[in-house]
Amino acid sequence: MFDFKEKNVLVTGGSRGIGAAAVKLFAHLGANVAFNYNKNYRLSEEVVAACEGYEGTVMFDECDVSDYQEVQGFVNKVIAKFGQIDILVNNAGIWEYDAIDEMPVDHWRRTMQINLDSVYYFTHFVVKHMKENNIQGNIVNISSTAGQRGEAFHSHYAATKGAIISFTKSLASELSDSRIRVNSVAPGWVNTDMSAEALSKDKEKIIKDISVGFIPEAEDIAWPILFLASNSARAINGEILNVNGGNVLCG
Ligand code: NAP
Repeated sequence: MFDFKEKNVLVTGGSRGIGAAAVKLFAHLGANVAFNYNKNYRLSEEVVAACEGYEGTVMFDECDVSDYQEVQGFVNKVIAKFGQIDILVNNAGIWEYDAIDEMPVDHWRRTMQINLDSVYYFTHFVVKHMKENNIQGNIVNISSTAGQRGEAFHSHYAATKGAIISFTKSLASELSDSRIRVNSVAPGWVNTDMSAEALSKDKEKIIKDISVGFIPEAEDIAWPILFLASNSARAINGEILNVNGGNVLCG
């Protein structure tokens, strides 16, 4: 149903979790995929190994998404390798626990830089490239239920995710003349490293509030990302697609 042959995709934070699942599915469906990692070279190699035999080429490199110049260098490297970028998935992120009265300023800034500044950096460079080359591509930003309803002890995280939602809606209309679609997937709990500690403590309690009755896996989020990035979603723009197992019902 989804065909990504001859499409070039950039996924941020593709070494693990949701990003890794998206990289594998895109490659499986014929795309050339580039992803970055921060620390996990070995896991990145495993993602590439899992894509062996797929039609598309997969490349990766180290790139700290919170560093403007590193992002510029990485985007240029991807363009040099693939010729163009058709789809950008802004996925990399961190989720830290801090009470607001005890939150050190460096924790606040780290979350802003990794979760939000990075989305501006990648979008800035990729949209410039798309506009200059008349590429009618699309962007999928990964937000969160935290950005929709807030999240106690994760106020910095929730603030970045709420910002990603309004960033998505702003660009959906701003980029309409260029025919670049911009959408977001908003996951709730997902079974990845990010939530592993919380899930190990409270899994049964958390599942009780999820009406599908299970904690979604990374692939459960990756498929909706691919849907939004695909031509099947050509009429969808500025949408926040809730993928939270019915945990948070947004109007
Ligand atoms: P994850 O398993 O912790 O993976 C995070 C990914 O981001 C890794 O590839 C990591 O690279 C990369 N990354 C982190 N900091 C980076 C940096 N400074 N520079 C470059 N890459 C960096 O997370 P996940 O659960 O897949 O989450 C993916 C996205 O979904 C995030 O935006 C997250 O906020 C969102 N989300 C997740 C959940 C959940 O329950 N898991 C819920 C809602 C939303 P390394 O491997 O090299 O560290």
